[in-house]
Amino acid sequence: MKVIKKEDLENFVDELIANNEKEVVGVKSKDSKYVFDKLENAEELELDYDVTILPPKKYFMPQRETLVEYETREGIEMEAVNEVVPRIIIGIHPYDLEAIKQMDKVFADSPEDDNYLEKREKSVLIGVNMKQISEWSFAGSMGTATIEDGYDLMLTDLGDRYAVEIGTSKGRELLERESLEMRDAEPEEVEEVENIEENIQNGFEKELDFSPQNLPWLLAENYGDEDFWEENAEDCYSCGTCNIVCPTCYCFDVQDFSDISLEEGERMRQWDGCMLEAFAEVAGGENFREERAERYRHRYMRKGRYLYNRFGDIACVGCGRCSSQCVPDIADPTDIFNKLWSDKDE
Ligand code: SF4
Ligand code: SF4
Repeated sequence: MKVIKKEDLENFVDELIANNEKEVVGVKSKDSKYVFDKLENAEELELDYDVTILPPKKYFMPQRETLVEYETREGIEMEAVNEVVPRIIIGIHPYDLEAIKQMDKVFADSPEDDNYLEKREKSVLIGVNMKQISEWSFAGSMGTATIEDGYDLMLTDLGDRYAVEIGTSKGRELLERESLEMRDAEPEEVEEVENIEENIQNGFEKELDFSPQNLPWLLAENYGDEDFWEENAEDCYSCGTCNIVCPTCYCFDVQDFSDISLEEGERMRQWDGCMLEAFAEVAGGENFREERAERYRHRYMRKGRYLYNRFGDIACVGCGRCSSQCVPDIADPTDIFNKLWSDKDE
């Protein structure tokens, strides 16, 4: 573990920006909320924040991206497209790092998704331990309030300085600058970081009433409880916001857009969400999840059961974004999961 003074970290960030080798993005404040965005200077960087509107997944899986360009003038010619911007992303909270670990598994699964994987490969992730905890977050219950790996560098605020944990060789290389003023951490500073991490675990207002490892069977047991899902989905607008803001939601739709001449065009993908009415609609107009309650149930099944069965991860990291942004306030996973848990013996 290393230690860097706050002013030296600012100088380091400014140097990374001036260097121009990689785009430097970080957490910035915007209209009393926080967003990940390109940094123009280190002063813009906010490392003391509760949660960002969108998670950093947008840098590996952009809202819209071209996958293929094609033309048909002389037969069909196609070219794969992947716009990769090498980036340093500063200020990622542990729950978002855990979500990125989960997404890495999904996109590395066969068939590998080069558009995602190449963007990940060219990114450096700098995490930060939470100082503020969002009132909606329950990361403490999901085991994602702190993290042991998944970052290249990890920062912890120690007052006038930051502790810097080095997670990978990428992180180490980034620190290899003659101009960087940094020293080894003293044993008491290592202990201070451990204490801070322990305190973070205890700082959550929201929590799950049981271990998340029970979710797969709890959800399987309650799949057929139509009344439960209908009752809870009653006020849902099918707006899809809970999908869009979620760091572990990765569904997308692929469409071709042809030029008016029909001689050239592109294949694009854009974010999609299982809460949207048209998500499960197929050719001929058949919709496999026509009813709001079916879509609502599917989202929870996916978070706590389906992805666990496939990849071994509970696909909710407890960031609380879904519940904080759902207008009728019906998207909070702790509400639904705790209700199912308390009803289980009835
Ligand atoms: S649960 Fe809330 S955020 Fe999700 S689709 Fe329904 S209304 Fe929108
Ligand atoms: S389901 Fe909600 S709380 Fe869980 S990771 Fe997604 S946005 Fe965060």
